[in-house]
Amino acid sequence: MTDWKNPPRLFIPGPVKSDEDVLEQLSRPTLGHRLPEYSQLHKETVDMLKQVFFTEQNVFLMTNSGSGGWEASVRNCVAPDEKILCTTCGAFSEKWATVAKACGREVDTLGVEWGKPVTAEMIDQKLASGDYAAMTMVYSETSTGLANPVYEISKMMKEKYPDVMIFVDSVSAMVGMPLEFDKLGWDVTFASVQKAFAIPPGMTVALVSDRAIQKSKDVPGRGYYFDFQQYAKTAEKNQTPTTPSVPHIMAINYQCQKLLNEGMENVWSRHKQMADFVRSWAADKFELFCDRKYASNTLTTVANTRGINIAETIKSLKEKHNTVFGNGYGKTKEKAFRIAHMGDITLDDLKELLHWIEAEIE
Ligand SMILES: *Cc1c(COP(=O)(O)O)cnc(C)c1O
Repeated sequence: MTDWKNPPRLFIPGPVKSDEDVLEQLSRPTLGHRLPEYSQLHKETVDMLKQVFFTEQNVFLMTNSGSGGWEASVRNCVAPDEKILCTTCGAFSEKWATVAKACGREVDTLGVEWGKPVTAEMIDQKLASGDYAAMTMVYSETSTGLANPVYEISKMMKEKYPDVMIFVDSVSAMVGMPLEFDKLGWDVTFASVQKAFAIPPGMTVALVSDRAIQKSKDVPGRGYYFDFQQYAKTAEKNQTPTTPSVPHIMAINYQCQKLLNEGMENVWSRHKQMADFVRSWAADKFELFCDRKYASNTLTTVANTRGINIAETIKSLKEKHNTVFGNGYGKTKEKAFRIAHMGDITLDDLKELLHWIEAEIE
């Protein structure tokens, strides 16, 4: 029985479950977004996010879902007469290429088969032509459960293409996987909060380099809602251009305090530990959809090598335990299934889930 007031426990790769203490943050009395209390909340939150992502550059609190980051990066930092290289390795990275075209930009794609990574060598080969102003990539491709080797790619970019801007979709990676923004030398990266921040949907955290803001000054047609110039100007007052989702910022503030208390190294290893556990189970009972070396630490995409009826299994778990996990995304529906292990999901939660799935398939 479907009842939105008694929703299933979520193991889909976003939104993931939010704990009660996090939900409570969303019900605090609201603040006037031009009053000093808000600026205090904003500054405190941005300062913590800078520590979480190892950056001294700009953090924007954007009231839109993660997809807005695709559009914001392209519209602000690439002029209409410049070319973008969009690397693709699954549904979300492919969508970004579509969005960049929809924004009227000239796009070339560098695509690999779903389940395979985009490598530094491939990007190097493509950029050697000198045609590109910017490159896009996804950190953790949520359709295939694959993490691209972003540290290697970024190192190569720094050495060989320091002038090419780097935009990274970190929607399902941020918090759960290492992301040292300044060291990586990225220009724009972002994540909506319903993934590893473990907050209900409705907001995006974006990290933006100083040079991206500089560049955006001269890019025409930036539009209004995502204009980095407006974001940068209002950030000086610890505000946002338009009314932000204040409750979400309170929840981000709360989650950041927890993350910093735990220590980011520990947060990353906690995610790796959950990932190792789910991957071992997947390799034992099925197979991983991607090469284990590139498997993401925030979700696992399992290849349905036993030919189980995935939709039926999910339905059965929902009926018996009011719990759901994810079917394959798009063209991988029934060929693969996805289990999230990010945010406030615990190893005990996962043990319970895998036990229930086993009971269905054996
Ligand atoms: C979920 C997801 C998105 C889309 O984010 P929204 O918040 O739904 O707009 C984009 N990219 C990746 C990698 C994702 O996992």
